Amino acid sequence: MMFNRSAKKKMSFERFLSYEYAGDYINQTTPYAEQIEQAARAIREADYVLLGAGAGMSTAAGAEYGGKFFEENFAEFQKIYGKGPYMQDMYSAGFYPFPDQESKWGLWSHLALLAGADLDVTTLHRTLLDALKGKKIFLLSTNADHQFEKAGLSVEQIFATQGSYKLIQCARGCHPKAYDAVELFRQMERERKDGRIPTELVPKCPVCGGPMAMNLRVDGHFVQDKAWHTAEDRFSHFLPECVDGKTVLLELGVGFNTPTIIRFPFEKLAREHENITLVRLSRSKAMVPASLVERAIGINADMAKSIIDIAEKLNNGEASEA
Ligand SMILES: [Zn+2]
Repeated sequence: MMFNRSAKKKMSFERFLSYEYAGDYINQTTPYAEQIEQAARAIREADYVLLGAGAGMSTAAGAEYGGKFFEENFAEFQKIYGKGPYMQDMYSAGFYPFPDQESKWGLWSHLALLAGADLDVTTLHRTLLDALKGKKIFLLSTNADHQFEKAGLSVEQIFATQGSYKLIQCARGCHPKAYDAVELFRQMERERKDGRIPTELVPKCPVCGGPMAMNLRVDGHFVQDKAWHTAEDRFSHFLPECVDGKTVLLELGVGFNTPTIIRFPFEKLAREHENITLVRLSRSKAMVPASLVERAIGINADMAKSIIDIAEKLNNGEASEA
């Protein structure tokens, strides 16, 4: 391997990704209280904590996407488009085959504000960040809702790989730029009638003149703009630093929807580095590779409770050591 001493070490996001499904998953049978103790101990002893957050983190924190919340907030759209199969929850609603751009942005501006700029479920995030004070932390996230940022984590410590509910881009991805659209969304929200926005508010690509889309990784047109690459670069500098140190990979609500971005890579990192411990929190998908033995702690439980319990241990531990 070529190694340039003068250059800062980097491990690219591409190289970090893993497609390898662990063949030896187990659900650990260690009692809950003991697992919380183990997790807190691992974090206490660590210098670095790499957070990996998936949809389960936002849900555990209180974000709602379907059920009564959707009925209450999307009644206007259910009246127009019917209730099923799209108008059931915010994820499905976004995929509705809208008849025109005015209708598409009528729904999307509303959805994007509710799921992004106006979402604030950060109490749990704050609890976690407070408990991690003093650690070198970085967040890798597949969430587009900015909740860790809202909770006070610096954008320089965040790499949100899948885009943002605040940004739009050329629908065809003709140029690699994403545009902040929060103010535009608010205007759309104010001027929407019967699910549609006025034609003059429909955003057009400033380069090709074509339609715009959300900057969310839903298809091959997703644009990775300058900010995305800057975050990727910071992440790829943090990685080699943390794999050389005492590190905990703290995985928060990552299932099997996009396991190649956080779940599998975390397992790979732990497999390859003895100084790394994987702490996996999930309501029901906290199975861990048996081969990691005591360097993997998989806690299947209400994640909000797990986080609060671990934070409490960490905070008490600090107090008694002081
Ligand atoms: Zn374009």
